[in-house]
This record gives sequence, C-alpha cells and structure tokens, in this order.
Amino acid sequence: MTPAFDSSNLEDMLTRLRLSTIRDNLNVFLEEVARQKMPLEQSLKYLCAQELTRRNNRRITMAMKIAHFPCVRTLEGFNFEAQPSVDKAQIQELAACRWIANSDSLLFLGPPGVGKTHLAVALGRQAVTLGYSTLFVSAVELIAKLVQAQKRSKLEEELSKYAKPKLLIIDELGYLPLERDAGHLFFQLVSRRYERGSILITGNRGPGEWGDIFNDPVLAAAILDRLLHHNYCVIIRGDSYRLKDRRSSDNIQKSENDLT
Ligand code: ADP
Ligand code: MG
Repeated sequence: MTPAFDSSNLEDMLTRLRLSTIRDNLNVFLEEVARQKMPLEQSLKYLCAQELTRRNNRRITMAMKIAHFPCVRTLEGFNFEAQPSVDKAQIQELAACRWIANSDSLLFLGPPGVGKTHLAVALGRQAVTLGYSTLFVSAVELIAKLVQAQKRSKLEEELSKYAKPKLLIIDELGYLPLERDAGHLFFQLVSRRYERGSILITGNRGPGEWGDIFNDPVLAAAILDRLLHHNYCVIIRGDSYRLKDRRSSDNIQKSENDLT
C-alpha cells in the first residue's frame, strides 16, 4: 500500500496541514529557533504562534474589506479633549465590545461634524479585530437597497444580507425623511436583528423626532422600542470638528495677518 503522505517531504506535509506560513518562512523561522537556542516545546509554540498570527491578520484584512468602512478612523485618532461631551471611559468600555456580545444597540446622536461617524468606524474596526462580523452602510444606501429589492421581489435575500453580520452600522439616519414604505422595510430589518445582532446607528435627531424621520409616529415608536430595549445612547454636543479646524486655521491666518 502506498503511504498517504511522504514523511521525508516537510513542505508537502506542511501544505497538507495547511500551515502555509510555517512552510513559506521555514528557513527564517528555523534560523530564529537556532539563534535563540529554543528547546523543542518552545520552538513548537513559536511556530504555531507565527502561523496563527498571520492567519488572524489575514482574517482581519478580509473582514475589514467585507465591512465596507467608508474611511479608516481609530479611537487613538479621536481627540477626546476636543470633544468633552464624549466620555472617554464610556467609549473605551464600548470598545471592549461586550455590548456586541450581548446583541445590544448603540446610538450616536448629535449635529454634523462632531465625530459620530468617526466613532462608529473606530468601534466597527475594533469589533472586526475582536472577531465580530461587521457591515457598515449609510442609511440612504440601506433604504435604497431594501426598496429596490422589494420591487424586484428579492426582499428576503436583501434582509438576510443585512441581518447576518453580528454588528450592523447604519450611518446618518434622519438626514432625509423616509417614505412610509421605506420605514416599514427599516422596521422589518430592525425586528429581524432584534436580540440577535447589534445595530449601531448614527444620526442627527433625538428619539423624540423619529416620528418625523419615519413620517409615522407609531412606526417610529415600534422601531425605537426595539432599539432602546437593550441600548446605549451617546449624545454628542458641540461644534463641528471640521469647522473647528477651519476656525483654528482662520485664527492662524488672522494672527499671521495681524503680524504683518
Ligand atoms: P459626524 O459623523 O458627526 O458628522 P465625522 O465623524 O464625520 O462627523 O467627523 C468629521 C471629521 O472630523 C472626520 O474627518 C473626523 O475624523 C473628524 N473628527 C471629528 N471629531 C473628531 C475628534 N474629536 N478628534 C479627531 N477627529 C475628529
Ligand atoms: Mg457622519
């Protein structure tokens, strides 16, 4: 009987074991093992750690692509001093993603430019890093996709697409009022995700104004009932960060002019 594998061919065995990182970097890793004079168990741990680290990095890269973030934003890049209405400790607590493990919802509400999308993307990236499947979509795109899908009798497919990720980030809800039918589709999605997956919504209107967004106070109340049941709400106040930058550069310009 021919053996199932050739025990003299390390490369082949590593391929069969799907240990491609060890296979592709074998010489480098073996040199390191020799240089550090690692005993056998430590060498094995070192090799396994290399394989798992690269595998994890690949998973993260892939999941970041699938998440469709519109930009790269991080918590490290968020200037908490410039935004005193945001509690740094609360955001750090949210970054541990326990709320996602519990399928809770999160709302970031406030005027334009105060960092809602920044924080949503930063927390989304954190969720991906911790292994939670994530999808980012603007409210306008989400609604348009659901409406189109309904017209083409593909609503079920589209709803499952948005119901699937453990975290769904819906950006900029409320900038445009929704047709009543669109509101119903939104409600279906929220109901489907309820207690199964987290929703993070950013928007410019407080819950009291959601009746206007959905053109229907009863529907808005039903949506809010589900969203607010297990929910964290972060109200961000203050001036736009974009304008703040512009203002401070205006000031620099002004003081430069003053100097001349
Ligand atoms: P919003 O979604 O509330 O309208 P954004 O999150 O899009 O605002 O913020 C506008 C721009 O300002 C983005 O480029 C964002 O990265 C930046 N920004 C806002 N707040 C902060 C902050 N506190 N620290 C660093 N950058 C910020
Ligand atoms: Mg935004």
